[in-house]
Amino acid sequence: MGKILEVNKIYFKLKNDLIKERAKIKRPLCLASVITTEDSSSKIYLSMQKNMAYDLKVKYIPVEIERNASCKKIIKKIEKLNKDKEITGIILNKPFPKNINESSISQTIAPDKDIEGINPYNLGMLCIGKPIFIPPTVLSILEILKSIKIKIYGKDVTIIGFSTIIGKPLAMLLGEKFATVNITHIGTYEANRLPFYVAQADILISAVGKPHIIKGDWIKKGAIVIDVGIAAKENKIVGDIEVDLAIKNASYISPVPGGVGKLTPLFLFKNLFKATKLNKFI
Ligand code: NAD
Repeated sequence: MGKILEVNKIYFKLKNDLIKERAKIKRPLCLASVITTEDSSSKIYLSMQKNMAYDLKVKYIPVEIERNASCKKIIKKIEKLNKDKEITGIILNKPFPKNINESSISQTIAPDKDIEGINPYNLGMLCIGKPIFIPPTVLSILEILKSIKIKIYGKDVTIIGFSTIIGKPLAMLLGEKFATVNITHIGTYEANRLPFYVAQADILISAVGKPHIIKGDWIKKGAIVIDVGIAAKENKIVGDIEVDLAIKNASYISPVPGGVGKLTPLFLFKNLFKATKLNKFI
């Protein structure tokens, strides 16, 4: 029987460090949070951002974009935020409306305000092993792995989810640490190959957002399991993993809620502080 990973200790330590770091930054800081749609998972994240901004003395500007706005209109809005000297960091909240081309929007964010690390410049730097801004969710996953002192070198890792903000950068960074990384996604699921790849994993990271699609009995004995996906089921927030059964095989599970998502806002602000220090470096 494995253990549920507790992140409270990491949370308070990181938050204290951020409070101290903030006190050393002598200029006003301002986060622009662009909101194109709202669903239950983004609502929670938005309120976490707002509360964290308050605690860390950062001005928080929600930039709400109307539901049917065109890509062109959103790009114009971001260009305005890029030029605004008051704004030190920009975040684009997901999910985007269906008509929006995600990559053309992320390309617009000025690389030095791109605290989610989704602009092609920042992603490129990450790919060549010289990351500037690592996406906050990825930092949160890496911090949890660090907390259990797991040696990543040589391990078999399966990542479920291939998004620009989680799966792709995480695969690159774990590859840099010489893990053998399997990246899986909807194609793997539809080919009925998910159980196979899950069963290979010494470390399993799932970032899909479909309730309990990863079955407990697929998990390898002793695996470390990190759930990232957020979904609603019977009015409750749940993750991708069937935790109650997975815990019988896993050595550790970081569950949803109460795991990665708790640390993600902290890393968003850590990146914001970094942006201030880099100060128009690109
Ligand atoms: P996304 O929609 O961009 O990507 C989802 C990925 O899941 C895609 O690669 C897709 O191919 C894959 N997928 C879809 N259905 C699948 C299936 N049945 N089997 C296997 N793979 C499947 O989403 P995203 O932005 O990467 O977010 C993923 C999840 O993580 C969401 O639930 C989101 O709310 C959550 N999230 C959590 C945090 C956190 O801090 N905990 C932060 C960001 C996102």
